[in-house]
Amino acid sequence: NVFHGVDWTVLIYPQMIDANSGQVVSKYPRTICRFWHITDLHLDPSYHLAQDPTKVCFSSKGAPATHAGLYGDFLCDSPYSLIQSAFTNMAPLTQPEDFIIWTGDSPPHVPPDELSTDLVIQVISNMTQTITQHFPNLTVFPALGNHDYWPQDQMPDSTNDIYKAAAALWKRWLEPEALTTLSQGGFYSQLVKPGLRLLSLNTILYYGPDKVTINMTDPAGQFEWLEKTLEKSAQSKEKVYVIAHVPVGYLPFVGNTTAIRKSHNERLVAIFRKYSHVVAGQFYGHTHRDSIMVLLDEQGYPVNSLFVSPAVTPIKSFWEQYSNNPGFRMYLYSNKDYSVMDIWQYYLNLTEANEKQRSDWRLEYIMTEAFGLSDLQPKSLLQLGLSFMLPQSKAFDKYFSHFMVDYNSSIVCDGSCKVHQVCAVLYLDQQSYSKCASSADW
Ligand SMILES: [Zn+2]
Ligand SMILES: [Zn+2]
Repeated sequence: NVFHGVDWTVLIYPQMIDANSGQVVSKYPRTICRFWHITDLHLDPSYHLAQDPTKVCFSSKGAPATHAGLYGDFLCDSPYSLIQSAFTNMAPLTQPEDFIIWTGDSPPHVPPDELSTDLVIQVISNMTQTITQHFPNLTVFPALGNHDYWPQDQMPDSTNDIYKAAAALWKRWLEPEALTTLSQGGFYSQLVKPGLRLLSLNTILYYGPDKVTINMTDPAGQFEWLEKTLEKSAQSKEKVYVIAHVPVGYLPFVGNTTAIRKSHNERLVAIFRKYSHVVAGQFYGHTHRDSIMVLLDEQGYPVNSLFVSPAVTPIKSFWEQYSNNPGFRMYLYSNKDYSVMDIWQYYLNLTEANEKQRSDWRLEYIMTEAFGLSDLQPKSLLQLGLSFMLPQSKAFDKYFSHFMVDYNSSIVCDGSCKVHQVCAVLYLDQQSYSKCASSADW
């Protein structure tokens, strides 16, 4: 497992941390850079250790949070202490050259009458300040989530108080041109460094529950802007990272359901295929789970790697089987062609943290190590996805355990559960997905 002539095994976590300073020791070549991904913080300010378990948090919607502890409960959104512990544990791992992507959803899962435009802005503002305090020297590239609006999901295709507030709050990280499109449509583009551009899309405009944009072919002109921006990047020989909250493609935990509207999904897939030579990586949140996708072109050739990062919030609804431990992650990428080389996924074992009243965030896995890959380029992800299809695939069982951030290793995913997971990894458009889901090969 060697690349760029460097033995990858020296990068394993314990050896990476200097015992005295607690700093990450850079043992990899200078051609490898890093960035961090945090998503779905979902702060619940009402969280408190109440006598009555149904009163612990508004976000449990009356369900009893019977395992409530210092760092949260699987039926609640994040207490402030959980979010702080995430950043307190992450900060010493960062280096001055790093940057952070933050893919949205700050407010809690509560009925609309518990929130307001003002409260949503307050929560985003609080989270912005918290991030700034922990990472004063790093640039953060945010994207808006479906909960970052009031009423939730109803993002308009034109300027409003929330887009404007976001632009004001994120002034220290974003340039004037980015702030202009952000306050108009909730999206922006900015150069990360010479040769690497970041595009933050507002995919809530394509999200099914958004009634405002339901019959619009190109809400806020974002598709047109996206194509124009990618075209310009291609001409300037830049590579692009796409970040957004709601991912393109199919949901891994249900059959035949795209995360955004089907028609908008088809258009987005077509654009990403057309500009796959420009896009070096795509990074999403929203599902709260850890998953990958590989975009294939019309001929079935792998052209893009996509990553969905698990949430900081551990929330699940009362009747749901799945949840996730809180997580954040680091990406390693090549500074030569900006291709994604690896993921270091960190997590907090919530049950253990509550028992010990200590938050020891630990490395959950290193993607190349876990799956025996040399990198995370499209070819490698296709190979991995195809290996999932084999009966009793050990790689798939591991992938599924990571999907829930090791929440519950006794849950087995086979039959249609596995079909949905694997088809969602490999097929992002309607035609190829349907073929996969109905295939007799299963
Ligand atoms: Zn969320
Ligand atoms: Zn969301």
